[in-house]
Amino acid sequence: MPHRLHALLLSLLTLLLPTMSSAQPADAAATPVAQAALPAPPGWLPALDALYDAGIRVNGLEDRHFSPEQWWAVATPLARDGAGFRTELLGTSAEGRPLRHISWGTGDTSVLLWSQMHGDESTATMAIADLFHFLGAHPDHPLVQRLRAGTTLHFMPIVNPDGAARFQRRNAQGIDINRDARALASPEARALHGLRERLKPDFGFNLHDQDVGTRVGDSERGTAIALLAPAYSQAREVDAPRQRAIEVAVAIRAVLEPYLAGYLAKWDDTFNPRAFGDLTAAAGVSTILVESGGIEGDLQKQQLRKLNFLALVGALDAIASGSYAGLSRAPYDELPENGDTWPDLRILGAQLAVPGLPPVRTDVSIEFEDALLERKGKIEAIGDLGDEPARRTIDATGLYIVPFHPPGPTAGKGAPVFSTDAPAYFHLSRDPEGRAVVWTLAGDVDPDRPSPAKP
Ligand SMILES: [Zn+2]
Repeated sequence: MPHRLHALLLSLLTLLLPTMSSAQPADAAATPVAQAALPAPPGWLPALDALYDAGIRVNGLEDRHFSPEQWWAVATPLARDGAGFRTELLGTSAEGRPLRHISWGTGDTSVLLWSQMHGDESTATMAIADLFHFLGAHPDHPLVQRLRAGTTLHFMPIVNPDGAARFQRRNAQGIDINRDARALASPEARALHGLRERLKPDFGFNLHDQDVGTRVGDSERGTAIALLAPAYSQAREVDAPRQRAIEVAVAIRAVLEPYLAGYLAKWDDTFNPRAFGDLTAAAGVSTILVESGGIEGDLQKQQLRKLNFLALVGALDAIASGSYAGLSRAPYDELPENGDTWPDLRILGAQLAVPGLPPVRTDVSIEFEDALLERKGKIEAIGDLGDEPARRTIDATGLYIVPFHPPGPTAGKGAPVFSTDAPAYFHLSRDPEGRAVVWTLAGDVDPDRPSPAKP
């Protein structure tokens, strides 16, 4: 309706997203884009963006660390039979959690989407709940009508529910399901493999999250989303199904470019014979990998969730309408690959004061298990890190690093361990004994005190 308002909202978001980052300068001009070859964003994008904010985003998933049971409690009413969905139980995980297949649509082109085979990669799973909501609650929306007529969508959300319950990568048996596509040792991998073999879909969407520290090419910008049309053999040649996947990736880029110009990358296309994306491509399915990285300040990945939703709708609409066919592959080829991965936090210029040892001038870098929320830190490196970039830097010149024991069995026994891979527990203090503490890292950064107060 007020189209100008939608356009304004879109351009506002476009402006806001890059500036939310600290370590990522907003120099979109640095990206070598074949602008002429990149399709314009779809005409429906501003209106769908506004509709998403007004009522598509599903409540109850504001924290991305949800359990599979929480997610299904939200998603099941959305994917009910009366809204055009069909649900099938595929089997159970190692710990007995249900593995479900949800399908929707009546079209000839079949699409299989799977998410969270790594249990701590939940962004796309949130977007799938939003997609269920959109498809079910807006049956007369032109996009929904086009998707229903043109595609049959098959979802296997949360392939790894036991891992998701712990928010860990691997399943309950310690298996990385994305390295189990050939051996099929885990029940989760067998369920996904069996579904794919039975459906023989035309398109596959392999939905993941990647390291927040990863840069776009050799730039200082963090990758927000990386795309890949995976190779199906060591030679990495492009046959007709892979060409179609590349064209759909270009359609996704057209949707995301207004929001994430300069923050999009391409995943490494080395063929991995144990990975699902690669073996799905090898089965002749046009496969698209979507890896959500990070946007600085988007702590719960809610912006990335929305961009996943818009990207998926864009990809599925391009498939349903056939509009992907014949798109120039240049905007895909010219995406910079994922580059270096920066550590999360660097402490510069301090004196390390381990009890019993003389103080030594050194820098320290920290890697967090949850990079955006800065939780569960480990020492990544100790030494001269003056030339090593990081997502965030604290200048600790004139201060002492005074380690202390993490809570647990070692507490109080001897000097605390301060070495690479050890949990990051230390004070920054004005004195080597730790009496005049100005800042503390106790595994997690205190969000109310992310840095030492300026003197
Ligand atoms: Zn993954």
